[in-house]
Amino acid sequence: MRRNGIKIELLSDDSRKPLPDEGSLGFGIHFTDHLFIMQYYDKKGWHSPMIVPYGEFCLDPASVCLHYGQAIFEGLKAYRGKDGKVRLFRPRENMKRLNRSAWRMCMPEVDEEFLLNAVKELLRVEERWVPGAKGTSLYIRPFMIATEAFLGVRPAKEYILAVILSPVGAYYAEGFNPVKIFVTDEFVRAAKGGVGEAKTAGNYAASLMASEQAKEKGFTQVLWLDAKEHRYIEEVGTMNIFFAFKDEIVTPSLSGSILPGVTRDSVLRLGASWGINMAERELSIDEVIDAIKDGRLVECFGTGTAAVISPVASLHYKGNEYIINDGKTGSLSKRLFEEITAIQYGEKEDEFGWIEIL
Ligand SMILES: *Cc1c(COP(=O)(O)O)cnc(C)c1O
Repeated sequence: MRRNGIKIELLSDDSRKPLPDEGSLGFGIHFTDHLFIMQYYDKKGWHSPMIVPYGEFCLDPASVCLHYGQAIFEGLKAYRGKDGKVRLFRPRENMKRLNRSAWRMCMPEVDEEFLLNAVKELLRVEERWVPGAKGTSLYIRPFMIATEAFLGVRPAKEYILAVILSPVGAYYAEGFNPVKIFVTDEFVRAAKGGVGEAKTAGNYAASLMASEQAKEKGFTQVLWLDAKEHRYIEEVGTMNIFFAFKDEIVTPSLSGSILPGVTRDSVLRLGASWGINMAERELSIDEVIDAIKDGRLVECFGTGTAAVISPVASLHYKGNEYIINDGKTGSLSKRLFEEITAIQYGEKEDEFGWIEIL
């Protein structure tokens, strides 16, 4: 079968997996029955787009991605509303960002419209996998890897682009859980001029040590400061970060080492539409600590596709613990979370044109 230029090869009904229990999905554990894949050769461009049964890849041990890290990815979700319809949230932004990451990593760009259509075709094949319980969703993971067998250091000439799907549980099944954050002035995530603004595999490998050490000390995540002065705030774990002061909400400006989050952008736009003074600027850890001390900092939260809004209970910096909003979820975090999820699940009007129905 072919649809929209994609060859579709489906498993028979009786060889499909049973659906996992929606109450205990977790994150990134279960995978659906099929995946999308296409290939690239420099002389041929992208070709052979297919939806095929989920299964292992066969890679040459000399594949460039295994040695030099030419690997990028995206993350977005499909949400099932009470009306049964499946919605995507700003998926074009993810396709655009995939191409920006590809450009930075000297990988081939893809036709954004074609890839979005391929994602939708895959979702149509796997629709039964979009869970319906509150807060659950089907996580969509497009990724690109360099597959050319070659040990020299230069951009590869062969690539695979694939999309896999994973049903994921409600992030806040037991209600909001404000997290304790360790501010590291030892490790850095990304430096200006580096690859921090690309969603590339190596950034996550580079972040593991700091987050493991923070977890051993009893913290949930790390707050990253800039690589040069260890002073300016960048991100929290794998999320963007916002600070709500009495008179404005601030998030670090996209300076080259920060991942431009779709959720970050959505929060900036929503806040502005509510008449809140939203600022993108440099923000030092000292400014934040001073504001906590004199009561001007009212809330702090991370933003990302997985959690949407992740309230921060406290910051641990240079041996001291600074509690924010008594360690509780603030009203703004709550309002942003409720508004964004209501749009995603089709419970509120989509004034911004952010939703695409499958
Ligand atoms: C993916 C990611 C984010 C969040 O981006 P969203 O588009 O909001 O999901 C933030 N920081 C890092 C490092 C990321 O990888």
